[in-house]
Amino acid sequence: MTAELISVGTELLLGNIVNTNAAYLSKKLAEIGVSVYYQTTVGDNKKRLKEAISLALSRSDVIILSGGLGPTADDLTKETAAEVLGRKLYLDERTMEQIREYFARIHRENVTENNWKQAMIPESAIILENHNGTAPGIIMEENKKSLILLPGPPNELEPMFEESVLPYLQKNEKKVLYSRMVKICGIGESNAETMVKDLMEQQVNPTIAPYAKTGEVHFRVTAMADNKEAGKKLVLPVVEELKERFGAGVYTTKEQVTLEQKLVKMLKKLKFTMVTAESCTGGMIAARMINVPGVSEVFHAGLVTYENRAKKEILGVSKKTLKKYGAVSRETAEEMVIGAAERCEADVAVSVTGIAGPDGGTKEKPVGLVYIGCYVCGEVEVYECHFTGTREKIRENTVVTSLNLIRLKLLEYM
Ligand code: ATP
Ligand code: MG
Repeated sequence: MTAELISVGTELLLGNIVNTNAAYLSKKLAEIGVSVYYQTTVGDNKKRLKEAISLALSRSDVIILSGGLGPTADDLTKETAAEVLGRKLYLDERTMEQIREYFARIHRENVTENNWKQAMIPESAIILENHNGTAPGIIMEENKKSLILLPGPPNELEPMFEESVLPYLQKNEKKVLYSRMVKICGIGESNAETMVKDLMEQQVNPTIAPYAKTGEVHFRVTAMADNKEAGKKLVLPVVEELKERFGAGVYTTKEQVTLEQKLVKMLKKLKFTMVTAESCTGGMIAARMINVPGVSEVFHAGLVTYENRAKKEILGVSKKTLKKYGAVSRETAEEMVIGAAERCEADVAVSVTGIAGPDGGTKEKPVGLVYIGCYVCGEVEVYECHFTGTREKIRENTVVTSLNLIRLKLLEYM
């Protein structure tokens, strides 16, 4: 099945809004194994929209249009698509009722006259309910092809896609897709890809697709099969192979599990408590930990010790160390992590001190230099890291690396 996207809206062409719908839809379609071959953006212009739809119908099985379903005069996607397929519009009672209900729910008294335009539906179309707005989605089928019309606002399009379009597309596929995610941390993207290049090249079913996140690489292994069991049989050996190759670098093979969730799970199992002492990340590591519900059982404190005095007074870093080696040093990171662990009586602690830039770098201590201290049950290790990119990137990388270093240390205790 091949698909293509048509994003409708002059504001997209003018660069006033970013086309996040196209990115969202492409990603979602790729996940279910539907190939997207074209993305078109067209303004609110009937003639050009007509041309775009006709061209799409000539070359793709599924065409998804987004935007231009609203009540105003410049919203003409539905009218134009119906015209291309030679279908008349009728006023749909059920959709009218739903629009009335929607207005009542958001406590707006009067449905304005032009809202009824949204209840006009092309003949023999499938109507997709909109729980977050008034414009329903529409599917028109013609010669085994599907034209799918979705509202422009992402908060309406995304739930409608998940609730209605995904099941619709998968119903037409007789095969099922089975996929697993292998999440890796501590190995750079290009390295990781090189390590599985041979696998990626020879695999057709299952396929292996890499996704890079800051500090992490995720490989999605997807197989097309007659049923779930058969899909599993194809996917699991590849997942095993990836685990073998990346070893401890793999922290999960479950789609929903995040790095911080994994770490919290390990801490709980070991009955360890953890604290953080952060300088350049300003609490971001603690924030990641606190993403996980129920973390208070194991995470006790996140200290942000940004200025030298705070490092001295809160963590007990010695004046001598700060003077001799500086705040960004192996020695300071070490005293920070010991101070945090001992003063908070924690089993596990992590400290970070670094130069996030854009200023403040020197030849000896360039921007991106970060020391990460790890403390586990009295054992301390300090890692020197060199990150690149913007201040934001350096800080994000520091957070992921810190969480991962602690995870790797804890593996020794599991
Ligand atoms: P409405 O009922 O709000 O008019 P609509 O279906 O007619 O919805 P548009 O008028 O095309 O959709 O767009 C409405 C809003 O949705 C835009 O102002 C924009 O904020 C958002 N939007 C539209 N298209 C996109 C897109 N491709 N990517 C991201 N946001 C979009
Ligand atoms: Mg509109």
